Amino acid sequence: MNIEQVYKDADALLEGHFLLASGNHSSRYLQSAKVLEYPKKAALLTDALATMIKQSGIDVDTVCAPALGGVLAGYELARSLDVRSIFVEKKEGGMELRRGFEVAQGEKIIICEDIITTGGSALKAAEAIEALGGKVVAFASLANRGFCKRVGGNDTVKKECALPDGIPLFALADFTFEMYAPNDCPLCKEGKSKAVKPGSKS
Ligand code: ZN
Repeated sequence: MNIEQVYKDADALLEGHFLLASGNHSSRYLQSAKVLEYPKKAALLTDALATMIKQSGIDVDTVCAPALGGVLAGYELARSLDVRSIFVEKKEGGMELRRGFEVAQGEKIIICEDIITTGGSALKAAEAIEALGGKVVAFASLANRGFCKRVGGNDTVKKECALPDGIPLFALADFTFEMYAPNDCPLCKEGKSKAVKPGSKS
């Protein structure tokens, strides 16, 4: 499966002139929710991710996603792995399990996101799970933005990566884009367009 093509076909890989949450500009942007718009296509992606996880020999009891972004990917990955699916939600300074979800002592849990950028939300989800006695055995994501190193990937880990060493990250592909400071952006210098915010708030 050509993952980049799957994203392009779903209009999840945008090309243009974007203002990122970090304040930097980029000519490409992953609108990662779009790749999950059609459940049958989403299932093909999580089936591929589940195959990678199974081949590694890692034993999983449960998938846990940080809400909101990770929930659909987490749910589909749980279906692909035939395990339980739960999610954690934002609270002041971190994440917490709500809605009657429980974690058993030593339960083996994969933290699943739709996209790992620096992995900050995934780390907070992992901390919430471990505080309850669960064991985080891996991180998983459909897309990896290239700050963290995925199993089998060519990119090196960058200083921005928040994920802990020693716990593997499984992802289908690396999407490493050039980013520019606003005063050093070639698209701005070209003067034909203004950077627009493409994220979850638009
Ligand atoms: Zn620009």
